[in-house]
Amino acid sequence: MFESAVTFIRQTYRSDGFIPLHAPVFAGNEKAYLNECVDSTFVSSVGQFVDRFETEVARFTGSRHAVAVVNGTLALFTALKLADAAPDTEVITQSLTFAATANAIRYTGAAPVFIDVDRDTLGMSPQSLEAFLGGRTLTKNGRTYSKSTGRRIVACVPMHTFGHPCRIDEIKTICQASGIQLIEDAAESLGSRYKGRHTGTFGKMGIFSFNGNKVITTGGGGMLVTDDAELARRAKHLTTTAKQPHPWEFIHDEVGFNFRMPNINAALGVAQMEKLPELLEKKRRLAERYQDFFTATDLRFVGAPPQAESNFWLNTLQLADKTARDAFLEQTNGQNIMTRPLWRPMHLLDIYKHCQKDSQKNAEFLYERIVNIPSSVRP
Ligand SMILES: *Cc1c(COP(=O)(O)O)cnc(C)c1O
Repeated sequence: MFESAVTFIRQTYRSDGFIPLHAPVFAGNEKAYLNECVDSTFVSSVGQFVDRFETEVARFTGSRHAVAVVNGTLALFTALKLADAAPDTEVITQSLTFAATANAIRYTGAAPVFIDVDRDTLGMSPQSLEAFLGGRTLTKNGRTYSKSTGRRIVACVPMHTFGHPCRIDEIKTICQASGIQLIEDAAESLGSRYKGRHTGTFGKMGIFSFNGNKVITTGGGGMLVTDDAELARRAKHLTTTAKQPHPWEFIHDEVGFNFRMPNINAALGVAQMEKLPELLEKKRRLAERYQDFFTATDLRFVGAPPQAESNFWLNTLQLADKTARDAFLEQTNGQNIMTRPLWRPMHLLDIYKHCQKDSQKNAEFLYERIVNIPSSVRP
């Protein structure tokens, strides 16, 4: 039934073998910097590459500060802690996301609240957010509280799904009016812009992931970005055991975390950043190739939303219904082409089904129809 799609994907990758969903590319200075790092003996929590990687990510995204940490999940956890997420508070996010988003909220003790997504962006819907806040919360003295629980809503975490920017400027305006801090889960959207501005830099803080399957990788890694010097200082302090600077004494002024990115991982990151513009160009060309092909079929290729520039991290198709989706997944994976469905929305998981939510009709609609197709750049 999907034979022409299978043939096209095989032609695209010029391969008769297994085609993965997303393979990393190490085509630059990765080995040279790793060797340099080992030779220096500074492979662990101190070293030049961490500083360089932070500088490069800040420069590329246009944010004033960047703080490297061990992974994207803990970058988000750190951002949420700094936004005062804690037990007896609530944090708004979308149900249609990878579990790490909701998990990071739960680690702080806060309760996630799930808002529906837009069908075109796959990200948080500003209309749904506004409707939820208007109907189910109260704002007094510039702070917003849930009517049903009385708890304060401290933050809102939209996510740029598969690298497609959501309507982040509208979400920002709504959050500002409600005294809710905006934190962007930009784990998937390094290289994606909305109205010319890099995702992750609209809110108070944003986070990126450099896991092996993301646009660039440090093996494992994450980054918190912010324009606020004080937040950046606190993020660095909190994630490096909260040790006061001193030539020999160990004095810790709060219960800090060891979330430092090791220098050896940052070495990989510096090399990956050097090739990022070229990689993004190749990813956009691949997406165009898919788009041209699928436009002539009855499978809808999910393009960049209006006024957005997407990194096309994972290329995405929308199928007619769940039956078609399952048949597509069956056929492609059966023929050694890796494809996968959307994450099961958080409100449908046992661990999060008790959380507050709105209708979730778009999340459920998309969950039944969306698939990702191979998205590695071609050699
Ligand atoms: C990958 C990802 C994360 C977590 O990043 P890790 O580096 O794997 O911890 C968080 N949110 C989203 C949406 C992601 O895709």
